Amino acid sequence: MATDYRIPAHKLVRPDKDRFLDEENPFEAMMSRFDKAAELLDLEPGLYKVLRQAEKQVIVSIPVMKDNGEVEVYEGYRVLYNTSRGPAKGGIRFDLQVTLEEVKALAAWMTWKCAVVNIPFGGAKGGVRCDPQAMSAPELEKLTRRYTSGIINMLGPDSDVPAPDVNTNERVMAWVMDTYSMHVGHTVTAVVTGKPVELGGSLGRREATGRGCMIVTKEALKHLGMPVKGTTVSIQGFGNVGSVAAQLLAREGCKIVAIGDRSVSLHNAKGIDIDDAIAYAKKHRSLEGFDKADKISGADLLTLDVDVLLPAALENVITTKNARDIKARIICEGANGPTTAAADSVLDENGIFVIPDILANAGGVTVSYFEWVQDRGGYFWPEDLVNERLETIMKRSFEDVLDLSRQRRVNMRTASYMLAISRVASVHRLRGIYA
Ligand code: GLU
Repeated sequence: MATDYRIPAHKLVRPDKDRFLDEENPFEAMMSRFDKAAELLDLEPGLYKVLRQAEKQVIVSIPVMKDNGEVEVYEGYRVLYNTSRGPAKGGIRFDLQVTLEEVKALAAWMTWKCAVVNIPFGGAKGGVRCDPQAMSAPELEKLTRRYTSGIINMLGPDSDVPAPDVNTNERVMAWVMDTYSMHVGHTVTAVVTGKPVELGGSLGRREATGRGCMIVTKEALKHLGMPVKGTTVSIQGFGNVGSVAAQLLAREGCKIVAIGDRSVSLHNAKGIDIDDAIAYAKKHRSLEGFDKADKISGADLLTLDVDVLLPAALENVITTKNARDIKARIICEGANGPTTAAADSVLDENGIFVIPDILANAGGVTVSYFEWVQDRGGYFWPEDLVNERLETIMKRSFEDVLDLSRQRRVNMRTASYMLAISRVASVHRLRGIYA
């Protein structure tokens, strides 16, 4: 029998959902969306309390002997937010902005993301506060291996499976996989995803997040009765997500009129040749100096008069300060948490169709799931099959969220949280509380 979480004696106290203590606190941003969805779902008080907490939070200190012989000590985190639906899944980021609060929010987002696309994982995230650009390759390797050994007891194909995130890549995943394998005494490819293909990585994984963004953007255009050909797009972030989304959308006939990275933002009303820009950024390690478009400010890139805005960099770029100036008809959230919760209502008032992060960027973790399945089966799929299965899942998930948003008359963000929370909640009810 399913566990009854409705304890009559229990008095539920929900924080005031309209109160934003700190608009830029990502955990609050996540929680205010969670609260709204939980209320609409009439979630039982007991379950509400369970789902508001992270299951496990670990802080590790990471001493690294630098190339110059000095010792630097970094702080690293791994948070398992919820593992009721399966092994914890989520990336590791290396960035100066990393805090436990941010990692916790990102771990919760991973929980909802995996549930929205209905893959059998829980949610996790990890991070190390550091400036990877200022580190040599040997220093990064030492940092990665020491961080991995600090969280080794959490890791494993059945318990916690990291992947790349901001400033980490296949090479970092290879080090994580090797460190774990050395500890357990044999090669375990399924302990991380986003690995090099030679080491059990999946074809199509590197492009998966950007490909997923392209697929849901096309679905949104179709839903709004807008053509794909000639659709104008502005993209913030030119890493693994932004550059691939730009390339694939351009191939579909969209006109990418603005792109930007940490160094510069660029605009060309006639459209930017994305293959050219990617080749340039690869060679020069940034877009700085690319002269086939005009320089604009990072703020202007977000408020251009375009059909689609695709933020694919970091959190909190669309806030109450600029939301009113956004002219795009569609926002496809390639990044995690690019919009603050306080800005949601402004976008709603202006009729902007937002494809929320936990749906829009779920292509990455979906192909991570395929990678994990392939590693465990020891049987690898051709790229066409990976892309075809990704498309099926992204389209079905978009449809599921859209249906719910119509049924309940809520926006896509609230609908995606409702769908995710209801899936996680039903697993909790069936499993009950172990005591
Ligand atoms: N870091 C990616 C995300 O935020 C991928 C996570 C994964 O594949 O586990 O969705």
